[in-house]
Amino acid sequence: MSDMETKLAVPPVVEELCDTLRAGGFEAYLVGGCVRDLLIDREPKDWDITTNAKPEQIQALYEETFYENDFGTVGIVTESDDPRLKVVEVTPYRIEGKYSNARHPDEVKFSDTIDDDLKRRDFTINAIAYEPETGELVDKHGGREDIKRRVVATVGNPTERFSEDALRMLRAVRISAELDFAIESKTSAGIAQSAKQLEKISRERVRDELIRILMSPRPMQALYVAQKLGILQYVIPELNDAIGVDQNQAHSFDVFEHLMRSLQHAADKNWPLEIRLAALLHDIGKPASRRWSPEKKDWTFHGHEVVGARMAKNILKDLRFPTETAATVVSLIRWHMFFSDPDEVTLSAVRRIITNVGTEHIKELLNLRICDRIGTGRPKEQPFRLRKYMSMVDEAMRDPISVAMLKIDGSKIIKLGEPAGPRVGWILHALLEEVLDDPKKNTEEYLETHTRDFMKLENEQLQKLGEQGKERREKEDEVEIQKLREKHHVS
Ligand code: ATP
Ligand code: MG
Repeated sequence: MSDMETKLAVPPVVEELCDTLRAGGFEAYLVGGCVRDLLIDREPKDWDITTNAKPEQIQALYEETFYENDFGTVGIVTESDDPRLKVVEVTPYRIEGKYSNARHPDEVKFSDTIDDDLKRRDFTINAIAYEPETGELVDKHGGREDIKRRVVATVGNPTERFSEDALRMLRAVRISAELDFAIESKTSAGIAQSAKQLEKISRERVRDELIRILMSPRPMQALYVAQKLGILQYVIPELNDAIGVDQNQAHSFDVFEHLMRSLQHAADKNWPLEIRLAALLHDIGKPASRRWSPEKKDWTFHGHEVVGARMAKNILKDLRFPTETAATVVSLIRWHMFFSDPDEVTLSAVRRIITNVGTEHIKELLNLRICDRIGTGRPKEQPFRLRKYMSMVDEAMRDPISVAMLKIDGSKIIKLGEPAGPRVGWILHALLEEVLDDPKKNTEEYLETHTRDFMKLENEQLQKLGEQGKERREKEDEVEIQKLREKHHVS
């Protein structure tokens, strides 16, 4: 039974790949996200073809292919310059075997019919196949109807489908955030019922969906839905603890809503993943650091940025984020409380913030501050004050903030008579500490004289001076955490 015929805008390269399959005597349909996107006039992210040919038969038809997975998917290398078309995936019709672990089928079985293949797909809007030559649309599960209604609904019984693969629950939230579709009511009831099964999903798969939720245009709405349906606690449980945690009088929202609004602003600005993650987690230490101040008659959150940075580090590690991404986010959170009143802040304080967070991330720290302010419900970050602070940052950046920018280097110190070795590094760091306090000292003459003074010091004393600056920040963290733990009687 074929549905009405339509012509959709399929790139010629993809049409040719389908032609080749047909010339080999096989069927060829476009399927999944690309068909859905064509029907709603959205740019497809990639192109997937499905066929009754088996992997070896697919490989035999094309010059350059690769096949390195358990799902039968063959990657076809094309000559296209478009990165989305360089490799097009062709997958045999599949029918999924039994699932006994809520993660993946016990075995992958190929099938001879497109109908079987569509049945195993997650959502009705993702279960439409399109034959590019005839224009036939195979839509056995009401996909086009659901596109019209703008809903995400499972193919078949929601709880059954979620017990096969629990990740589908998170995919429903992600796809609804990307497309601005609602989750259909039986499907959302099914999510609420099956939420706990998300526990069984690998953290990498959860992370990939979380990233796409955060990078969507409406992460706040999506995470509220995830929270309401009970799956957020299997993504970032710490966020759940921020619900209902009231803040001080300067805030109208609880910690959770503040985080959501901060994140949404980062999305509205189209800022990168690191800022979105930092906005999402910047106050994650608040529930654990909240204390009532009888003098102020208000809540205080002293040290929450230190606690929060630690928590974020663990959260991102647990979700297997790349170390570099995690390090950036953690550092943004650690320093997000920086003092930024341009009328009162000193240049050397600005300089310290830049050293702490790194020259490459200072702009992101300022953007995080903007998210933070907007997230409190204030209409905007006062732009003139921010610009003023930004100009101080620029000014400070011209001054040294690493040993590399000192008007002296290791080889010069060796020339002055210091033997090569760790002492040279200690001298450089000790000089940097001085220059951070007073940039005027960054002259060859001053640094040379001072190097001679340092050279007279015993190892122990010099090492102490040199490592002091480096270690100071780490120590400050330790002390603050220790104090907090004692205060709260937690160890
Ligand atoms: P996009 O291309 O925007 O990522 P997509 O819908 O193509 O969206 P993919 O992850 O590329 O998402 O998956 C391709 C297709 O494979 C989906 O449209 C769906 O039909 C099917 N699919 C993907 N993951 C699952 C799953 N966990 N369970 C069932 N079907 C799935
Ligand atoms: Mg896709």
